[in-house]
Amino acid sequence: MTALELISLINQVLFIGLFVVVLRRALRDRTAMSFNAALLFGAIAGTVVLARVADWLGVSGQAGVTAVTLILLTAAPFAMLRLVDDFSGTPRWVQIAGGAAFVGVSVLATLGFERMEQLVEIIIIVFFVAVGGFAAYAFARESRRSRGITRRRMMAVSIGAGLFIAAVVLVLLAALLPVPAPGLGIVGQVLALTAVTAFYFGFVPPTWMRRAWREPDLRGFLERSIHLTSVPDDRAAILELQGAVANAFGASGAAVGIANADGTVLRYADAGEWVEFPADAFIAGRAFQQQRRVVAIDAATTDPDNADTYAASNAQTVISAPITTDDRRIGVLSIFAERAPVFIEDDLWLLELLADQTAVLLEARTLTAHASELRAREDAAYLKEEFLSAAAHDLRTPLTVVLGQAELMERRLARDPYAPVDPAGVARMVREARRLRDLVTELLDAQRLEQGQILMDRVPDDLCAIVEVVRARHGERGITIPLTRPDEPLVGLVDRPRMEQVLENLIDNAMKYGEQPPRLEIGATGDEVRIAVIDRGVGIPEEERDRIFERFFRASNVQSVTDTGLGLGLHICRRIVAEHGGRIWHEPTPEGGSTFVVALKLEIPLIPAPDADSVPAWPSASGAGSLVDA
Ligand code: ADP
Repeated sequence: MTALELISLINQVLFIGLFVVVLRRALRDRTAMSFNAALLFGAIAGTVVLARVADWLGVSGQAGVTAVTLILLTAAPFAMLRLVDDFSGTPRWVQIAGGAAFVGVSVLATLGFERMEQLVEIIIIVFFVAVGGFAAYAFARESRRSRGITRRRMMAVSIGAGLFIAAVVLVLLAALLPVPAPGLGIVGQVLALTAVTAFYFGFVPPTWMRRAWREPDLRGFLERSIHLTSVPDDRAAILELQGAVANAFGASGAAVGIANADGTVLRYADAGEWVEFPADAFIAGRAFQQQRRVVAIDAATTDPDNADTYAASNAQTVISAPITTDDRRIGVLSIFAERAPVFIEDDLWLLELLADQTAVLLEARTLTAHASELRAREDAAYLKEEFLSAAAHDLRTPLTVVLGQAELMERRLARDPYAPVDPAGVARMVREARRLRDLVTELLDAQRLEQGQILMDRVPDDLCAIVEVVRARHGERGITIPLTRPDEPLVGLVDRPRMEQVLENLIDNAMKYGEQPPRLEIGATGDEVRIAVIDRGVGIPEEERDRIFERFFRASNVQSVTDTGLGLGLHICRRIVAEHGGRIWHEPTPEGGSTFVVALKLEIPLIPAPDADSVPAWPSASGAGSLVDA
């Protein structure tokens, strides 16, 4: 046996094998596409078997045998043309012309081959090139339009069709030549071998190949949808999930219906709102009710009551599958396609896989939501505990002093009702009672600010004047606070009592955590007023600076200085400044200690003063220059 004969034999066996597989599929599926595929491979296998049998019987070359062989062979491009129609649809006239050409060529081959052998062969070659070539081109075009596994399978079919046509044309050309051309024959057989392999991958791809082809679609879906477990808005998450499903299929759309607790209503995400339908509505409803996938190749015929809805969604074909976990019916997943899927078995498989993935994603979302609810509750409980222990501790100290002092006075009075009043004791009581009041106010403020209950009454006011008032208040108590300020007013939109509270708080802190009173600077930069409270105290450890504005946070280095403090003051300051549309921040004072800066918008822009010295430019020359860039 020569190499040529061997390849030829392999080709024949493979084409017959392919025919058997495709025929079995056609008998099972009973779709137009599977019958036309069976016709294609039946025609090829028939040609092969006939040639073998005729050889064996010694009747090769007889007129009848040749005619039947030619008819079978020309049936192949005709079957391809019909497949093109199944895959992508063709104008009616193309099918009629193709059918007529097939009948014409068959009649010619039966009646005229004996007399006009060469002419008939040329006509057959033209028929093959025209009809088969068109089919190969149409498959390639359809492949470019499709996605994922369909694209790959279509491409394989297109390559198979093109190579098969080329192989047959080469063999026919070789027969036409006056001298034998074995080279053409070999090339033809090699092309046929490649063609049968490509057809195999296109029509009955093996499982490993299917898996490899599906992989990118699945990965694409997972990449697009995995983050959805943490998207807070349910509707946005569902809309995005639908986009990912539609994309994985190359479908015109997808819908995810989520069932309510008792499974009577399916809720769909629309662009603007949720829409609800009874759980048995639409094709999706059937899939949900029956808990199995439903394929409606022609949705309008399957569910005529909702034909308009399907038409509006460009959904000629609808495929739905239930989204279910082991013990819970979550909802239903549907895809809409403008026409029936080419390789429906792959799409069904993918749909069910995506329905499973969707179930996992939705369950994960529910769990994530549940977990964050629990965490929020735990956080709240923890904060409450923190708050109670901090408050109890801080209120206890001044209360003990007040009570102790009062009991002392009571005892003295009992001993001697006319004893002179102890001024130092009374002063201590007043001081500690004030501290108590301040702590309680701080607690209440923090709570009210948290609940948004404090309404700011902001009016245009001079911030220099506000700073002066606070400073004067300390002056009355014998505390001199150095101040650098411009002569002109710096007007911002402020709630005066609240802004005074911020400054008092920063100054109190500076004195609490530093040995001397701080110095104050106020100035303007661009359209901002900046007030700096600069101390030379203990400072704040670098790693804790980010946290000092948090509720209840106290830096680790202050315990040794003072153990009183709720860790609420700065938090309140930040809330108040934020309510003013401003910023507050901390930075270390270059010589050691802390600098707190409050920046607020200037309500009346600065008019450059004729005498530039009268409004200190910010940064000032006093050393706090670096704060401007914070
Ligand atoms: P507290 O009641 O503890 O003073 P604050 O909210 O006012 O609460 O301050 C939070 C923490 O920030 C303080 O406990 C302290 O660690 C730190 N802090 C605030 N101001 C200063 C400052 N001027 N110098 C050093 N540390 C400070």
